Amino acid sequence: MARLSVIIPLYNESTVIPELFQRLKNVLDTVVQNYEVIFVDDGSVDDTWSRVRQLADIDARFLGLRLSRNFGQHYAITAGLDNCDGDWVVIMDGDLQDQPEDIPLLFSKAKEGFDVVLARREHRSHGLFKRISSRLFWLVFNYLTGMDYDERVGNFRIISRRVLENLKVMREQLRFLGGMVSWLGFPQTTVSVRHAPRTSGKTSYTPARLWRLAQEIVIAWSDRPLRLAVRLGFAVTGIALIYGAYIVVKALVRGVPVPGWSSLIVSLYFLFGVTFVILGLIGTYLGRTFAEVKRRPLYVIMETTSRSCRQS
Ligand code: UDP
Ligand code: MG
Repeated sequence: MARLSVIIPLYNESTVIPELFQRLKNVLDTVVQNYEVIFVDDGSVDDTWSRVRQLADIDARFLGLRLSRNFGQHYAITAGLDNCDGDWVVIMDGDLQDQPEDIPLLFSKAKEGFDVVLARREHRSHGLFKRISSRLFWLVFNYLTGMDYDERVGNFRIISRRVLENLKVMREQLRFLGGMVSWLGFPQTTVSVRHAPRTSGKTSYTPARLWRLAQEIVIAWSDRPLRLAVRLGFAVTGIALIYGAYIVVKALVRGVPVPGWSSLIVSLYFLFGVTFVILGLIGTYLGRTFAEVKRRPLYVIMETTSRSCRQS
């Protein structure tokens, strides 16, 4: 009998937890006998953790991991992945935008012979600003990485044990699970699901946080910005050479006119601007490399509801 693990990161989701628990239980009881649900409390500041503990007391198949601070959704999921023991693993958001009722769909599709089944949200129930900015981000992301990432796919998915085992070996600091799973390969497919609006609690992603995340994902997955910078360097040099030749010819033909102070200053500012941008870019990559070589743990577990847990 296949065992199913469900991993759910939670950050200040206290209000949703009772409904989440009920709906998960209703659904899972009908699909599998053998399952576990791992709630990972990503350093919530509300009473998410005490609610998770209560659930774990009521039903031993519900487990909780509590991280020592807010590490971020993908790190929380990583903690869950490291500590689950299912033959199949479902990853989903805890805010009920990913609906527990879709788990059977993912599971049955997976059993047709797919190692990865992604839930594709045909209509995303996010605000207009978020939809537009996310569309833009994925356009740029796909251009910069040369990948073909479907923006309608979020974290909601099921993966097989062998995908999980390989995923666990990938310990990079900059984590974007969608990209990591698609990098791994294995037979993958998608199913369409409905994305529910958030009924309670609120998204923890502010525009500033999304911007930082977007930057990190691009830097982690692409070195095209570096190559673009080199190209820009060449282009500016080319223009400077042509302009230089033009000045020389002009001086020879017409004699030396009044020295061109303004063009000098303008090109100076321009070139310094370009140089600083490129330096910053290189610095960013260097910084990320530094973060990787430090090899810090990806998360720190502070408390669990039961069992001994593996760290980082
Ligand atoms: N989440 C988390 N850590 C964070 C931010 C979010 O574990 O730092 C969880 C959150 O509780 C939810 C999921 O990640 O279960 C998705 O977050 P959210 O709904 O805020 O994102 P959105 O749906 O707006 O993209
Ligand atoms: Mg959400």
